[in-house]
Amino acid sequence: MTREKRLYIATFGCQMNVSDSEKIAGRLQGIGYRATGEIADADLIILNTCSVRAKAEEKVYNYLNTLLGRKRKNPRLLLGVGGCVAQQEGKRLLEHVPHLDFVFGTHNLHLLPQPVQAAEEGRRGAEVDFIDTDTRLDLFPTDVAEGGVSRFVTVMQGCDNFCSYCIVPYVRGREISRRAGEVTEEIRRLADGGCREVTLLGQNVNSYGLKTPGEPDFTTLLKMVAAIPGIERIRFVTSHPKDISQPLIDSFAEIPKLCSHIHLPAQSGSDRVLTLMNRGYTRREYLSNVVALRAARPDIQITGDMIVGFPGETEEDFRQSLSLMDEIRYVDLFSFIYSVQPETKAAGLADESSRQEKQERLERLLSLQRQHTYERNSSFAGTMQEVLVEGVSRRGDQLFGRISGNRVVNFAAPVSLIGSLVTVKIVSAYQNSLQGTVSGGGAGGE
Ligand code: SF4
Repeated sequence: MTREKRLYIATFGCQMNVSDSEKIAGRLQGIGYRATGEIADADLIILNTCSVRAKAEEKVYNYLNTLLGRKRKNPRLLLGVGGCVAQQEGKRLLEHVPHLDFVFGTHNLHLLPQPVQAAEEGRRGAEVDFIDTDTRLDLFPTDVAEGGVSRFVTVMQGCDNFCSYCIVPYVRGREISRRAGEVTEEIRRLADGGCREVTLLGQNVNSYGLKTPGEPDFTTLLKMVAAIPGIERIRFVTSHPKDISQPLIDSFAEIPKLCSHIHLPAQSGSDRVLTLMNRGYTRREYLSNVVALRAARPDIQITGDMIVGFPGETEEDFRQSLSLMDEIRYVDLFSFIYSVQPETKAAGLADESSRQEKQERLERLLSLQRQHTYERNSSFAGTMQEVLVEGVSRRGDQLFGRISGNRVVNFAAPVSLIGSLVTVKIVSAYQNSLQGTVSGGGAGGE
């Protein structure tokens, strides 16, 4: 009997990459690979890479070097690299890393079984054609790996915004929306397989469908998804503040299945820096969006992104980012020090702050955010929350799930509840999670 082949995917970066990794696993199921969480069991290791953070290429090369020992011990082990770094580096990766078997770009997932099968036969190769036409939609893989209560569904690819610091339009291509019928069909299949919550993904979902004649806009797509039997919750990410529309804001009042959370990246609280970043909105406009969202859904939780040390950012600009955080009181904030991306406009801007200054600013920002997160988490203590039970907690002795406001809750309950919506009383709050007890039963507390 032939042994089932095992696939280990190391995913770097954003939720878009998590979704692509699910698609990769789905495509490779068709040629006999089953996903494993144990790298030691793998017959095939794929690095699904992201080039947004600093030194992304260097990190990929370093990771590949750490895999050399495994490859020597097991010459049948196959190694592949996908994602944005693969798109950027292409064949150079194969030239620089002799133990690498194949490379595939962000537009080549549909071809994926081919380089894997070629590698199984001892042939190395790279599939990194940049496909930036409408035909890209027809190539979008719709086969996804089975299982999972909460799943990501890509509704669009690429981006037309060209924020001055961002590489995405260069490696993911121009914005393109999937057809609504295909999106809903995929979600129907996921719901049939037990999925209860979908997160609709795009670099800027607010402009979904607007450039595709005959397709609905994003608000209409949300209503179509809400009508699919079995889907209890809908989330989406990312929403560009310059394009958020009143109908989308109204959706939070009108679509009960839409969760009480929005990710709305500000990137800076300073108008001067926002202009340098080419973000297309002012601090005042950003804040008025937040006021409108809270009017539509008073308990909405807001997460964001903030870049520290953008070229030309002064202490005063940075303080404006801190004061924006004080006004919004994000439940969570993804923040990082600006890193130069070749080809982008910001790469040509003068940058006078030292690394040390930037590091100190980041630490001040993180410290403030820790206070806000704890404050927000504490506000749930004593409340009853509807929780979608997603699985067994990391410690293994409890279950976990998320409230509509996207906070993780741990609680004691039978595993038979996985996949259900339960009412949980929040008994205590921590920095990264909540502790609860299932209403009318179960036990909790740490
Ligand atoms: S909106 Fe800006 S930051 Fe986001 S992907 Fe597009 S260019 Fe990058």
